[in-house]
Amino acid sequence: MSSDQVKAHLEFFEELGVDGIRRESEWHSRHEEPREPFERRPPEPPEPAEPSEPAEPLNLYLLPKDALTAIRADLGDCTRCKLHTLGRRQIVYGVGNPNADLMFVGEAPGADEDIQGEPFVGRAGQLLTKIIEAIGLTRADVYIANVIKCRPPGNRNPEPDEVEQCEPFLFRQIDTIKPKVIVALGKFAAQCLLRTTDPITRLRGREFKYRDAILIPTYHPAYLLRTPSAKRDVWDDMKKVRGILNGS
Ligand code: URA
Repeated sequence: MSSDQVKAHLEFFEELGVDGIRRESEWHSRHEEPREPFERRPPEPPEPAEPSEPAEPLNLYLLPKDALTAIRADLGDCTRCKLHTLGRRQIVYGVGNPNADLMFVGEAPGADEDIQGEPFVGRAGQLLTKIIEAIGLTRADVYIANVIKCRPPGNRNPEPDEVEQCEPFLFRQIDTIKPKVIVALGKFAAQCLLRTTDPITRLRGREFKYRDAILIPTYHPAYLLRTPSAKRDVWDDMKKVRGILNGS
């Protein structure tokens, strides 16, 4: 080892806080005694940081309204799945109060939603509006979105690859809005959110913990248009929703 290398070595040890060596032989052999437990000292408080330029705000600190706008921007003119080649006119992102306590999640836009760019505006949507009003709220109080943001051709069910590409955006919407209650409208939304193949008849009437919310599966308003007798069950579900929102 050259003298320069020895010097560099010693400087390195000095930086580590070693300021000398012992020549006695007992210092050269390892002396393994059972270790005494030692008391862990709380770490020293950090030095106050130098004032610096404010950092770019993270999504974490955005208002829900701005975070939803940022998620929409990430979606862009989405081409992640084949639905963009299958006749969708526009992406139907979601609508309503970014701070809503109550969120409704449906399946996918239909023809009317594809034209207007807003979820649940067709006949089923008008019934959903009445359901919302029946518990003393308006569409502007709640948030409404779908699992899939583009209309599947001929209103067919969304396919697994489409769900896989699209659902992360719904999850981000949910995690931004942080609703107390999520109502899953119909079999598709309920099964998709709950990762189950149980039929809606087994899921409805129950409450599920979901992310930080309570998820209530209920029948889809389009089903109610075909089966008005099921409205009674939906009304029971909505009374439960109202109770949760009112803290009772
Ligand atoms: N059905 C849905 O599931 N979503 C809509 O937006 C409209 C109809």
